[in-house]
Amino acid sequence: MTTLYLVIPCYNEEEVLPETSRRLAEKLDALEKAEKIGPESRVLFVDDGSRDATWGIIESLSHQDSRFGGVKLSRNKGHQNALLAGLTAANGRCDAVISLDADLQDDINAIDEMVDRFHEGNEVVYGVRSSRASDTVFKRSTAEGFYKLMRMLGVDIVDNHADYRLLSRRALAALLEFKEVNLFLRGIVPLIGFQSTSVAYERAERFAGESKYPLKKMLLFAFDGITSFSIRPIRLVTLLGAVIFGTSLIGLLILLIQKLFGQTVQGWTTLMGSIWLLGGIQLLCLGIIGEYVGRIYQEAKHRPRFIIDQIRLK
Ligand code: UDP
Ligand code: MG
Repeated sequence: MTTLYLVIPCYNEEEVLPETSRRLAEKLDALEKAEKIGPESRVLFVDDGSRDATWGIIESLSHQDSRFGGVKLSRNKGHQNALLAGLTAANGRCDAVISLDADLQDDINAIDEMVDRFHEGNEVVYGVRSSRASDTVFKRSTAEGFYKLMRMLGVDIVDNHADYRLLSRRALAALLEFKEVNLFLRGIVPLIGFQSTSVAYERAERFAGESKYPLKKMLLFAFDGITSFSIRPIRLVTLLGAVIFGTSLIGLLILLIQKLFGQTVQGWTTLMGSIWLLGGIQLLCLGIIGEYVGRIYQEAKHRPRFIIDQIRLK
């Protein structure tokens, strides 16, 4: 019988956890009754350094129902790292793992279909949003732009898929072989390979509380995704350098001709213009290169991605 783990990162989610856990318990009951999953299946909450009653709720849930477990991180490390901590804890204990958000935005009813697809032999099942109607126009257009940009940069990424997905035991073990510090799961999972499919679901509004992903975090996340997967920006720098070099040669020729005809003062504007323009472009390029150097630095440090404070798992 399939042992299924549900991994749920939680950051200050006291408002939603009682309802989420109630619905998840119901879902586990139903799946078990339908003999789709076995009795060893678990819900694993990851408390990502919450400042509210989240861990207390997780602890009491695990007292009431042994199917609920928790991992508490020593401090807030962000959604991706929290998810990774949960996946690491689930690794080797289950046949399949599903990652989902605590706020009930990922429709729990899609789990049935994911498990069915898994039983059909798929090792990765992506939850894909059937519409973005519940998003603001801003979020929708920035998300679309992001997916388009990623594709342009040559990154294999599944459209309208966040981190709601099922991984088989094998796929999970493979995922954890990627040891990079800046782990952008959405980009890594397609790299694992194995047979995969997707399941469409309707993304709901957040059940309660506020988004833990303000614009700033979202932009950083997108930037992370791009810089940890694509080296095309740095190629662009090389291209830009070549173009500028060519242009400046022509410019130099023009300046020389002007000098020959004694019209040096006339060239002053052009000269100043190019100095400033080049200065600007050089700085921009340095910035981009710096970003990559920064990344090499981070990777070289091999810092732990998370430090676990406590583990509760029966
Ligand atoms: N989350 C987390 N650590 C963070 C931020 C968010 O574990 O630093 C969790 C959060 O509790 C939720 C999931 O990640 O379960 C998605 O966050 P949220 O719903 O706030 O993002 P949104 O859906 O607004 O993009
Ligand atoms: Mg959410």
